[in-house]
Amino acid sequence: MATTERDYYEVLGVARDADDAEIKRAFRRLARELHPDVSEAADAELRFREVVEAYEVLSNRERRELYDRFGHAGLRSGGFQPTTFDFGDLSDLFSAFFGDDLFGVAGRAGRGRGADIAARVEIELTDAARGTTREVPFQVAVPCERCGGDGAEPGTTIGACPTCGGTGRLRQVSRSVFGEFVRTQTCPACSGSGRWIEHPCEQCDGAGRVLEERTLEIQIPAGIHDGQRIRLSGEGHAGLLGGRAGDVYVEVRVKSDERFVREGDDVYCTVDLTLPQAALGATVAVSTLDGEVELAFEPGTQPGSVRVLRGRGFPVLRGFGRGDLRVMVNVLVPRQLTDEQRRLLEEFEHVSTDDTYRADESFFEKLKSAFR
Ligand SMILES: [Zn+2]
Ligand SMILES: [Zn+2]
Repeated sequence: MATTERDYYEVLGVARDADDAEIKRAFRRLARELHPDVSEAADAELRFREVVEAYEVLSNRERRELYDRFGHAGLRSGGFQPTTFDFGDLSDLFSAFFGDDLFGVAGRAGRGRGADIAARVEIELTDAARGTTREVPFQVAVPCERCGGDGAEPGTTIGACPTCGGTGRLRQVSRSVFGEFVRTQTCPACSGSGRWIEHPCEQCDGAGRVLEERTLEIQIPAGIHDGQRIRLSGEGHAGLLGGRAGDVYVEVRVKSDERFVREGDDVYCTVDLTLPQAALGATVAVSTLDGEVELAFEPGTQPGSVRVLRGRGFPVLRGFGRGDLRVMVNVLVPRQLTDEQRRLLEEFEHVSTDDTYRADESFFEKLKSAFR
């Protein structure tokens, strides 16, 4: 399916009689501007696809003729399908198409930023509330000390790659949806570095990097949510040939706690009162994120009623204050009665009236009746 019904000339911003060079120039300019890796605009990806589609049509003589005479419908009946592509492959697509690198990042012979590392830690819910530190072990590629990262045995020399003559790239002419073009490929023999190592370093086997076990202590801020990631800048794998190191992303998983349920910065828990405790009033211990507290419940406390402890919830991450703790009352109804207990409850029921279960007038109701 076509992604757009807009006029292709309009999409590229060119005149109907624009020649191939003008069309290519317009496409190149728009692609630079709208590339989703570069553009901040929310609809960049959609517009980018439109632009690619428009270019696919207008840069091909037959398709362009078909479009000029019959419009979008003509292309559809002619069986035209815009290329679908994955944005991850775009730099490849561009270097293939333009014969160079559109954004000036990928081309520098093998000298690249190191890869990122993903790690994961699991913490208790109460630790998430307080904030904590954790040691996170991971394997990281670091520059080899023996060769200083260049991969050659010390004292030996590095020559130019014989396959690419030291340029790190190979040129190749081929055809694609964009027509015929010159493809510039990273040299497979030297992985684009242009270097030829005759005597690889004994320590790293020519890789220039070795794996090292490393442990980092990470600070987990109070209030962190399950699944949030902490970035440790520059702690990832070493770059190639002196390139910048990648980052470490530590994903924090917060274990569920059978006592608490978190919702945003608020926390819910329950407290069990026995039937007499609820009826007579009682002081009982309640779990909070900061340990147990004693809470007094009034006579006649109802099941499902909620006590709000302000500021006893989760700290607001990178903010001020804390959420609330909401304690919901559960009343335990006896399940196994002895003969005596049964007798007492039956007696109690016998002497109960509607008044026994009547709700107290609320403060507001009392106020109203005072003015009646
Ligand atoms: Zn080495
Ligand atoms: Zn090469």
